[in-house]
Amino acid sequence: MNYEQLIQGNEAFIQKMKQQKPDFFEELQKGQTPDFFVLSCSDSRSDPDTITSSLPGKLFVHRNVANQVVEKDDSLRTGLYYAMRVLQIKGIIILGHTGCGGVQAARQGVSNEHLDDWLGHVETSIRGIDELQSDDHAHERQNIRTQIENIKELPVYQDIGKGIPVLGALFHLENGKIEWID
Ligand SMILES: [Zn+2]
Repeated sequence: MNYEQLIQGNEAFIQKMKQQKPDFFEELQKGQTPDFFVLSCSDSRSDPDTITSSLPGKLFVHRNVANQVVEKDDSLRTGLYYAMRVLQIKGIIILGHTGCGGVQAARQGVSNEHLDDWLGHVETSIRGIDELQSDDHAHERQNIRTQIENIKELPVYQDIGKGIPVLGALFHLENGKIEWID
């Protein structure tokens, strides 16, 4: 992919939307009313909008490596606050995916001064999984379950989020399906 393809892709998007929904951009500038806050892995293969056929305006998304909930993360906290208080989202979704490089790096104990802090969060999140008895995706599932708990423990969620469901979702790269995890 190159810059030219990005420009052409944008033009194709504009034309497609104008054909399908002539008033799409008019509506878009009026404001957003997303139903879900999504915390997704940054991985280029697990884009929440694409894999759920969601158009702009439908999902309020925060992304980081291995979809981590870290209490000190101001960006996550701010987005979550805005989504819950102002946008009044109906649900929170933790979206992980199979073959997650962040999870794999944590499992393998990859160490690097630029990575250690973040991978430490991931490593803590998957601790306790039996390497011998677990199936291929057990670590990714465990990581998602941990973040569900972490979100619920965030002060911002405790303050204004109670009653908003937090769901886990594992996107399977092998077949495109989303496995729901509670
Ligand atoms: Zn990932």
